[in-house]
Amino acid sequence: MTTVVPNGASQNTYLGLFPIKVSEVRVHVMTEERPTGPSERRESTRETASAGDLLALLRSGQAATRADLRRLTGLSRTAVVSRVNALADSGLLRHGEDLASTGGRPPASLELDTGAGTVLSLAVGRSRSQVAVFDLGGTQLAASEVDHEIGAGPDEVMPIVAGQLRRLLGDETPPVLGIGMSLPGVVDPVRGMSVDSPVIGGWDGVPLAPYLAEVADAPLFLANDANALARSEFLGHAAHTHDLLVVKASTGLGMGVVAGGRLVHGVLGGAGDLGHTKVPEADGRPCRCGDTGCLETLAAGWSLVARLQEDGRTLEHVRDLVALALAGDPEAKQLLRESGRRLGELLAVAINLLNPRAVVLGGDMAAAYDVYAAGVREAVYARASAFATRELQILPSTYGDRAGLVGCAALALDGVLSPSAVDARLARS
Ligand SMILES: [Zn+2]
Repeated sequence: MTTVVPNGASQNTYLGLFPIKVSEVRVHVMTEERPTGPSERRESTRETASAGDLLALLRSGQAATRADLRRLTGLSRTAVVSRVNALADSGLLRHGEDLASTGGRPPASLELDTGAGTVLSLAVGRSRSQVAVFDLGGTQLAASEVDHEIGAGPDEVMPIVAGQLRRLLGDETPPVLGIGMSLPGVVDPVRGMSVDSPVIGGWDGVPLAPYLAEVADAPLFLANDANALARSEFLGHAAHTHDLLVVKASTGLGMGVVAGGRLVHGVLGGAGDLGHTKVPEADGRPCRCGDTGCLETLAAGWSLVARLQEDGRTLEHVRDLVALALAGDPEAKQLLRESGRRLGELLAVAINLLNPRAVVLGGDMAAAYDVYAAGVREAVYARASAFATRELQILPSTYGDRAGLVGCAALALDGVLSPSAVDARLARS
């Protein structure tokens, strides 16, 4: 039975998957929710660092040997050995190559056994869904995509993507430990369902785990598409900075906010939903959300496509618009630049509020990066304060078209390899 688990516990565990220099990370070992001073942290860690905590230290690159684990946690030699043995017995930990030594026997390195299992990744879009299999180190093993009717419901889309995932998995694979999935709109990660998605009809309130139960007996972790994109940057730009805004400029307009190294969700999971902010120029224009006057009516992919269609142009999807722009079509380029500018006007407010290091532009429209970013820059530098933009960078998304898949994999990996999940796994075995 596939179960749905809340991903709240893993919101700040981006340390996983990617070796980060120790100087750049905060030690999250035992103090995930409540920041504490260094001495307090050392005290609590000494008492309680679990096997799952040790694996997190190894996974983040902060520790590579038993000696590192003892030093970072304050655990005794015996306690480290027993936890390491438990992890090795479970298959999650392996002995790596011997490390260079300054003398005497070289210390044996320890690392996550990335082949001990897989996670499935599933990014559902309005007319296209991507699926992939990743190993526990975040390396993509297989991927494919399926097109479906624009706005198709879960009964049509989910059996197709489940079939694709089954095909990708084949017969002989390591066990699937988790499934990461993204949807447009606002999702409820605890109940594993969409709660407000005007882009894709018929998904709100429909539990998604049952569709995937036959593919894998593994927990489902759900995020909205902009947050999945932001999570992909935990393996990209966010590995080096704790504060950034990750824009998804596609059929819709969304944003993931990374502040202080954490993805910000808001009370109802709607943080970063800037596409439905009312702007005066859009006054009276009907939006797909049912309201009027939203930014999306002027700047989202769907509205740009509609405008070109009204002009008699033949195109269906925002990707067609981007292809036109990349081929030099002046009208398409002008529409994308204008979209970037209008988005930038609202981004300027977010930049003044949050003072991020970078704005990352992802999504289909950002594939025409030079044109789109030019519009964003124009408005951001005109509207945000000189101080907030002094060190601001505007960057393309690290994984481009694969970003949604990478983000869903990161979501699942942070869920199944979180200290509490690993400890629960060891307790069961
Ligand atoms: Zn709207």
